[in-house]
Amino acid sequence: MSTRLDHRNPLVFDTHELGRRPGALQRLSRTVDAPGSPAVLGIDGVIGVPEGKPVELDLRLESVMEGVLVTGTARASAEGECVRCLEPLRLDVAADFQEMFSYPEADERGRAAEPADDDEDEDVLYLEDGMFDLEPVLRDAVVLALPMQPVCREDCEGLCSECGINLNDDPDHHHDAVDIRWAALQGLAETVQDGEKDNMGGAEAGVDEKQEK
Ligand SMILES: [Zn+2]
Ligand SMILES: [Zn+2]
Repeated sequence: MSTRLDHRNPLVFDTHELGRRPGALQRLSRTVDAPGSPAVLGIDGVIGVPEGKPVELDLRLESVMEGVLVTGTARASAEGECVRCLEPLRLDVAADFQEMFSYPEADERGRAAEPADDDEDEDVLYLEDGMFDLEPVLRDAVVLALPMQPVCREDCEGLCSECGINLNDDPDHHHDAVDIRWAALQGLAETVQDGEKDNMGGAEAGVDEKQEK
């Protein structure tokens, strides 16, 4: 019997000890290195767990009629950059997942009985020689648990749209002298934002004169 899964791969789990008696349970904890290829564990170019960094896995394996139901949590520290201020950020992530790994022979019986069910079969994961590969499940779970637009903190002020300085470092920063080409546009923006501006008072006017690029 051949298998494509390598039991030495830390993300491959063996269910032989669990056995095939329905109802049997096994809990496993394992710390693995985050996989780096073919892609980072996370959202490529946005935020992810760097390759080789520890991922703590807590798994509960349950033997059921058609296979093994795997429920678990992955904990790791993800790194990325704030979408507003572009500063590096680190985020602890706890990703929950549950996945069914079916016995291949159970699937063959299913196919024979219901040949029209092809669509549903696409997402079915299988045990191979009693082993399963957690990697695709882990990848999906971590992506879902991470923010698509990570921010260093909820009220991050971001960068100045005119000069690019980090507004978190200088909350009072603004430009009074406006390039003539932008004046009309800014007038329009101020009309729109009048309500907000009223709340801010205007006591800070003149703190910051024209900023050179
Ligand atoms: Zn930020
Ligand atoms: Zn500025």
